[in-house]
Amino acid sequence: MKIILLGAPGAGKGTQSANISEKYNIPAIATGDILRAAIKNGTELGKAAKSYIDAGKLVPDDVVIGIIKEYLGSDACKNGFILDGFPRSIPQAEALDAMGVKIDVVLSIEVADEKIIERMSGRRVCPCGASYHVLYKAPAKEGVCDKCGQALYVRADDAAETVKSRLETFHAQTEPLKAFYAKKGNLVTVQGQEEVADTTRLVFEALRPYEA
Ligand code: AMP
Repeated sequence: MKIILLGAPGAGKGTQSANISEKYNIPAIATGDILRAAIKNGTELGKAAKSYIDAGKLVPDDVVIGIIKEYLGSDACKNGFILDGFPRSIPQAEALDAMGVKIDVVLSIEVADEKIIERMSGRRVCPCGASYHVLYKAPAKEGVCDKCGQALYVRADDAAETVKSRLETFHAQTEPLKAFYAKKGNLVTVQGQEEVADTTRLVFEALRPYEA
């Protein structure tokens, strides 16, 4: 299965991508995680991406398209994959088409802006990729990852001002992808407003028709 996850920042793409990855045993490719790792490691990619991420803006298309080309060309992606956070603009979606990648389903997780703001302020993440929320998905021990034991932290771009800017970027540049994929006939929307378990159930129901 080749899946794209669409949704505002904080809609729950990362959480659902982990669920889908586990259930269908396909890798999840999260461009945000790849960029944050590059910043942490001080690579050229990280240096190029940092100012955009800190401002809540999109990293230039050619940079992220280059990353995706590399990942999708790897053996791990042969039997399918989940794209979490890519494409995020029409030119990125066109680049995916130009690579000859045939996507089975584009799943859009719908969450209102007010809810997003509430969620982002409580989000805690782990360097291993796991994601928590102080109210809705607290780890067993405060500030510590259930999966690997590392210390959780607040993402720098989850600061209130940056969240506002990320939401504006989402509405202006990413949301038009819904119409783009609806026209192709492979857009499916699920509500992501309620409990994580509710969204997970809706996501699995939505994917069932696409199982091989
Ligand atoms: P995320 O973890 O998906 O919320 O991404 C965090 C930040 O990384 C975004 O706000 C962007 O600055 C950058 N980013 C991630 N994916 C992309 C993409 N496909 N295109 C451009 N910028 C991206």
